[in-house]
Amino acid sequence: MKSISTKPNSTKANKTGSWRTYKPEFNHEKCISCGLCSKICPEGCILMEKIKNFDKEKPMVDYDYCKGCGLCASECPVKAINMEKDF
Ligand code: SF4
Ligand code: SF4
Repeated sequence: MKSISTKPNSTKANKTGSWRTYKPEFNHEKCISCGLCSKICPEGCILMEKIKNFDKEKPMVDYDYCKGCGLCASECPVKAINMEKDF
C-alpha cells in the first residue's frame, strides 16, 4: 500500500521550503535575542547567529527548509517576526 507520509529523519532530504506560501521576515532591531523562535521552529531551520552591527546573536532562517507555518511569528514575545507573502 502506498503511503503519503515520509520516513522518519528525512527532513534534510525533503526541502520543506517548497511548501511555503508565506515566509517569516525578521526585524533584528526589534528582536531581543531570546532564542524562542529557534527553539520552537518545527523544521529546526532558525539558527541564532552573530551578525554584523549587533552585540547579541540574531535569528537567521534557512529558507530551503522553512515551510511557512508561522509558529515563530505567533510566539515571538516582541512581535519581531512578520509573515509575508512569498511569491
Ligand atoms: S522569538 Fe522574537 S525576540 Fe526571540 S529571538 Fe526570535 S525574533 Fe528575536
Ligand atoms: S515559519 Fe515555521 S518553519 Fe518557517 S522559520 Fe517559522 S517556525 Fe520555522
